[in-house]
Formats: sequence, structure tokens, C-alpha cells
Amino acid sequence: MDGFDVDLFVIGAGSGGVRAARTAAALGARVAIAETGRIGGTCVNVGCIPKKLFVYAADCAGEFRDAVGFGWQPAEAAFDWATLRDAVAREITRLNGIYRSLLEARGVALVEGRARLLDPHTVAVGGRNWRARHILVATGAWPRVPEIPGREHLITSNEFFSLPARPRRALLIGGGYIAVELAGVLHALGTETTLLYRGPLFLRHFDQDLRRVLAEEMRALGMRLEFDTDVERIERAADGSLEVVTHDGRRFPGDAVLAATGRHPLTQDLGLEDCGVRLDANGAIEVDHHYRSTVPSIHALGDVIGGPELTPLATAQAMALVSTLFGGEARSVGLQNLPTAIFSRPEVATVGLSEERARASVGAVRVFETRFRPLRNTLSGNPGRVYMKLVVDAETDRVLGAHMVGPEAGEIIQGLAVALQAGATKRVFDATIGIHPTAAEEFVTMREAVR
Ligand code: NDP
Repeated sequence: MDGFDVDLFVIGAGSGGVRAARTAAALGARVAIAETGRIGGTCVNVGCIPKKLFVYAADCAGEFRDAVGFGWQPAEAAFDWATLRDAVAREITRLNGIYRSLLEARGVALVEGRARLLDPHTVAVGGRNWRARHILVATGAWPRVPEIPGREHLITSNEFFSLPARPRRALLIGGGYIAVELAGVLHALGTETTLLYRGPLFLRHFDQDLRRVLAEEMRALGMRLEFDTDVERIERAADGSLEVVTHDGRRFPGDAVLAATGRHPLTQDLGLEDCGVRLDANGAIEVDHHYRSTVPSIHALGDVIGGPELTPLATAQAMALVSTLFGGEARSVGLQNLPTAIFSRPEVATVGLSEERARASVGAVRVFETRFRPLRNTLSGNPGRVYMKLVVDAETDRVLGAHMVGPEAGEIIQGLAVALQAGATKRVFDATIGIHPTAAEEFVTMREAVR
């Protein structure tokens, strides 16, 4: 015996932790994983999965409306929040079970309880101390709620999917992924929806044209977007309704106010600092290229290390770490050409550099773009238009960024991400035959924007 109970002790059974545990065990490592809540972490329980299921429900509203243009009699559709909420909850319970059996099938010991590091090789949880050759901290992140008067009235995405009823009027604070996505869901399900963002235009890190077009399209659908709006406090009226008061004295009444103002890494009370693990200014665990913290036996990945908080990134990092520790090949995950979608209404997806970042990094760029009414909307009467944009290095002709606003943007950009990863040039895009009639074919026939 080597004096260790396990080769890998994972703290946190979310996307990154579960993937690391399973793949390490598949390579023959002895693995245990600790979790305080439900298996699957944010993504399965209060993130990607319930969100996408709610987005599908929201899509149905548009289908009912569009169907009339195709000869269907108007449907008398009525939406029931409790039916959707409970169906989603059942699906999540099913997924929790699948995650659990995937771990069990690999012989991973699942320990329920709050883990704490005692030293670089010892984790205390479930009434015992585990000696581990390697420890992985994959505890994720938690919604950050602004420190403003009345913050106790705010909900976050953690509570959204189990709300007792659909709010009649909802206010969303923030201009990131969650505020934009949930604004689209709520509006489509019949809620009067207002998004309040402190800056001049939401989605600050995305391509400027993408942000501008999305704002136009969301407003055209009837969502209210209030930019340059700084929330000062939340008040509760005698009738139980809420009011958001802004710094410039405006008041926004609502029945639910959701803060989607970013997340903080879950690094508190784990005993990390006492073991010598260094945290950055935001409380995230500092790691090297191979997800190793300042203590060689303690590793971290996913949301808890800061950086883009995206499930596929956490799972890729997990596989890289397992390869490094148990597979005999040191690997790392690059952030170049990281594709991402925002399941807003309409959907947004992007891969590579925004025009602004491309100009800052390579200098001369060529921009190709198109905005058009998709075929479907000619009959449906739906006013929505699709926007697509390619950012190309003027010197090498390499496509640096692809951006889209419109239905199925995520599905389309995922394919283009492969092309960008392979280093495709605009000439390669031009030599590609389109699939007709699709929206995606426009990506291979785009003309240069006149600026
Ligand atoms: P984001 O980081 O995307 O956005 C946070 C927003 O809140 C920004 O607009 C920010 O403004 C604003 N903000 C921050 N602090 C304050 C404050 N004190 N007062 C007012 N506004 C504030 O975070 P989200 O909470 O929307 O989502 C968390 C993360 O989860 C995302 O970053 C994303 O990585 C992940 N996610 C991914 C999804 C996907 O892949 N489709 C879906 C949902 C979440 P400013 O820009 O001015 O700083």
C-alpha cells in the first residue's frame, strides 16, 4: 500500500468534477468525490439544462404565432408554469440519477457532505479523513448579489426554475448571459419583462455589432431594455409587489426581481489558504497550465479558477487534467476559438474574435456581414431578421471570428468553430458549397461590408 486511500479526491460533483472522477477511474485510478448538494452541479440543476428546457418552452410561443401564416387556425394556447417547472424538475432528478450511476459504474466512491482540506493530502468529509495522492477542487461558483438596500428581495438563477408561479412583471438586473437569456424566456412565456443594465449596451465582451443587433431584435419582440441604468435599491410595497429604484430616481415596478450580476468562485471554508493554496483577488484558485495550484498535490478547474464559466470548458479541462495525472500525457486546454451561445431570443452564438478584439490584436481586418429576413419569416410574418458576420485577417485571409444572431445560431456556429479551429481562410469559406435553402448557407456567400 502507498499510504493513500485514493489516487484522486474530487471536491464538487459538477460538470468538471464528475468528468474528472469518471475518466480518472476509467484509467484505473482509485477515486472519491464529495458533494454537498445534488450531483451535476450548476449546469444540470440550476443552469444549462433547466434553462434550455425553458427556452424550448419559450420557442413554442413563437411556433404557435408563426403557424397562422402557414395556414393553421390560431391556436388557443395557454401556458401553465407549474406543468413546465415540474416536468423540468423530474428531468433533472433523472439526470442526477444518471450522473450517480455513471460514477458508481466506474467504482467512484461518492461521499455526501461538506469537504475540508486538512493538509495537502488530506480531505475531511463524511466523518472521516481521506488520504489522497491528488486532490481536485471543482466547487464551481455561486451567484453574486449586489450589495444594495433591499437585496433580500432579489432572486437569482438558483431560485428561478422553482418559482411557485410565473411572475406577471419581471425585472432582470445585469447585462450578461443569464439576464439576456431569462429575459427572452420570461417574455415569450407571457411576462412583462424589463432588463436593467448599468452600461450603454449589454454583453460587454461580445462583438459590438452582435450586441447592437440583438438589442434591436429583442426590442422588436417587445422586451424592454433599459441601458445606463444603475440600480440603487429594491423596495417592497404594501401589496407585496416590488419596485426597483435607480440612481437617477426612476422606479420600475415588478413582481420578481432577478439579479444576474455574475458569480463568485466557491473557495470559502475549504481550508485552501491554510494549506498554502493561493487565491486571486476575486477569490478564484490560481492554477498553472496544467490546473495545478500553488500546492503541487492540489488541482482546480472549472468555474472555481475564474475565466469563462462554461461547462464544455470545465469538462475539457477535466480530461486534460486526468491525462496529465494518470494518462502519461501533460495536456492543457486553449481558450482560442472558444465557441459560445447565448440562448436569448433570438439566439446568439459566436466563435473567435470580435471585430474590436481582432483589430486590437492583428491590426488590419476585413469584415463580411449580412442581415436578412429568413425564408420562414416571409410567410410567418415574424419580423425577426438574421445577422451574420465574419471577421477576417486582412493579411493572412484567416477567419478570426464568426458571429450570428438568429434561430439555431448555436447549432450553426458549432460547425464553424471546427473550421476556425482548423485555421480556415475566407477563401476556404468561399469555396464551400452552401446547403440551400438554409440560413447557414449565407456564411459561405458573404460580401464584404462597406465601412
Ligand atoms: P455575466 O458575467 O455574463 O454578466 C454579469 C453582468 O452583470 C454584466 O452585465 C455586468 O456588467 C453586470 N454586473 C456585475 N456586477 C454588477 C453590479 N454590482 N450591479 C449591476 N450589474 C452588475 O454573468 P451572469 O450572471 O449573466 O452569468 C454567469 C456566468 O454563467 C456567465 O458569465 C457565463 O459564463 C455562464 N453562463 C453561460 C451560459 C451559456 O453558455 N449560454 C448561460 C448562462 C450563464 P458589466 O458588463 O458592466 O461588468
